[in-house]
Amino acid sequence: MTTLLIEGGMVLPCDGEYRTVHRPGYVFIRGERIEAVGAGPAPEGLRAGADEIINAAGKIVAPGLVNAHTHLFQTFLRGLADDKPLLEWLEAAIWPGALVMTEENFYLAALLGFVENLKCGATSVLDQDYVQTSPHNADAIAEAAARTGVRAFLARGFADRDPYHPSFQETPEQVLRETERLVKKWNSGPESLVRFEFGPLIPWGCRQDTLQTIDRLAHEWNIGVHIHLSETREEVQMSIDETGMTPARWLHHIGVLNDRWQLVHGVWLDEEEMDLIANAGALIVHCPVSNMYLASGNPAVTEWRRRGIPTALATDGPGSNNSQDMLEVLKFTACLQKLRTLDAMALFPEDVLEMAYAGGARSMFLDGKIGRLAPGALADIILVNAMRPHIAPVHVPQSALVYNANGNDVDTVIIGGKILMKEGRLTEIDERRLVEDCQRAAEAMFARAGIQVNSPVQASILPRFRQ
Ligand SMILES: [Zn+2]
Repeated sequence: MTTLLIEGGMVLPCDGEYRTVHRPGYVFIRGERIEAVGAGPAPEGLRAGADEIINAAGKIVAPGLVNAHTHLFQTFLRGLADDKPLLEWLEAAIWPGALVMTEENFYLAALLGFVENLKCGATSVLDQDYVQTSPHNADAIAEAAARTGVRAFLARGFADRDPYHPSFQETPEQVLRETERLVKKWNSGPESLVRFEFGPLIPWGCRQDTLQTIDRLAHEWNIGVHIHLSETREEVQMSIDETGMTPARWLHHIGVLNDRWQLVHGVWLDEEEMDLIANAGALIVHCPVSNMYLASGNPAVTEWRRRGIPTALATDGPGSNNSQDMLEVLKFTACLQKLRTLDAMALFPEDVLEMAYAGGARSMFLDGKIGRLAPGALADIILVNAMRPHIAPVHVPQSALVYNANGNDVDTVIIGGKILMKEGRLTEIDERRLVEDCQRAAEAMFARAGIQVNSPVQASILPRFRQ
């Protein structure tokens, strides 16, 4: 097995607590796992046994980030309809755009998105694709993930009833058959790089009996259920009008709120719903940039944490962010809670790292296996260059990582012991060619659909698709 030694950097083990820094420290990797982590120079025995040595002087060495919610097909649609609330944004950009995408477009869009995640330091990505215009869109995304080497958990999204857009609705039979096929094809083991889970899009687009069936199957198949919940006030009102209950209460009422469930957003949860979620052991995924971008609201993350609700962090799709920069997400997570509570100590960098790492590992069902630098953990590691004018001097590396660094500072990325980016250059993929291919494919896609992307964008797209 190949061995790799990283030495001389500022090592953040993030192993159960987030205060420790080895400065300098070392990490020794054998095969796909970490074998040793420690302070000071690496012991001579490890140096002698290393096939390759990376000098990490001036760099922060941390676990790879987990982006716990995105929709990578949207890389081709980003920037198309800025400045709109959720439901109008879906109608103006995402639905019409997704309808004209081919399987090849899905592959390229996802490849671009996984590469962006990788370059910005996310070694694990939870992607929810909810456009099943071809059964092979999901395979195309899985193949793109496999091509990049990113650890991917793919929530196979669906909606199976009104009022969700009729062009994207499926039958419950289709949803079950296709998800089973994908799980059998890709989930060969709990640590395989690409796995599938259920991805009911939103409570208001899914039938009650389907949600109950997939909840049962998720337990049987040992996978999760990934769903948007209480993202906007409008959706909460829709739920009350239809069921007499807010969305989390309704999930509890139909008997499916439990620790298999990953609830994305939770912006408008009330106190009692937070208690229900805490008791159920469900996870919430927080997407601060998307919540700002779509003006959805600012969720009570500190209240979730007070109740011990596991929380992961995410960018959300490139259509509502518009980037995949998880380091930017760390900063906004802290700042938005300070702003909401008017308390500068609402969240510390260590709290944010705990959500990103322990919460992130939990979202991937890989607790303890990723999100920490410790013997036995999978070697998913990033090196962030801290010797830059906007970061140096570094007093507290945790603070530098959360408040100063951005995705462009990520220097080296290792997943399962394999170096996928070294000193800013991808080792497996021709980045320039990929970007050019994507630009060409996206332009051809819009030309085929007769969409003119001029400013103001919404004016050119809306009349065509409102019919
Ligand atoms: Zn989303």
